Amino acid sequence: MIKLKRKRCRICRRIKPLTEFYRVEHRKDGHRSECKLCFREMVKRAQAKTRQQRLIKQREWYRTHRDYFVKYRRRYRIEHRKELKAYHQKYYAEHKDYFRKKKEEYKRDQKKLAQRRAYNKEWSRRFRTTARLVKQKKEAKKAAR
Ligand SMILES: [Zn+2]
Repeated sequence: MIKLKRKRCRICRRIKPLTEFYRVEHRKDGHRSECKLCFREMVKRAQAKTRQQRLIKQREWYRTHRDYFVKYRRRYRIEHRKELKAYHQKYYAEHKDYFRKKKEEYKRDQKKLAQRRAYNKEWSRRFRTTARLVKQKKEAKKAAR
């Protein structure tokens, strides 16, 4: 009869067969000193502990890579300018009545109109940045020729 090797878990102190212990190199008997159940419990606890730290790290990562996302979106807008323009024109044409109605609403409501103007101003400020970049790109191409 084959006698199964057994071992005592250092945490729950139960004597269990070796198959209940995870294998690990650089150990005398080739297994962890805590049983699978206890080890999983340990990992879970450790993860809960570091969860908050991981969230903070993720946020930091986004902050430090924010420029990349901003640049990516900007480049997308530049490279797909024609498609985007066509899309917006089509959208406008299909929702003409809606936009006309909105326009009438704004005419009646001065406060809303002021808000809308501020919003458009902000947008055009961003768009100007995009337009400037398009120009720079074109000029760089010309210079490279
Ligand atoms: Zn155990």
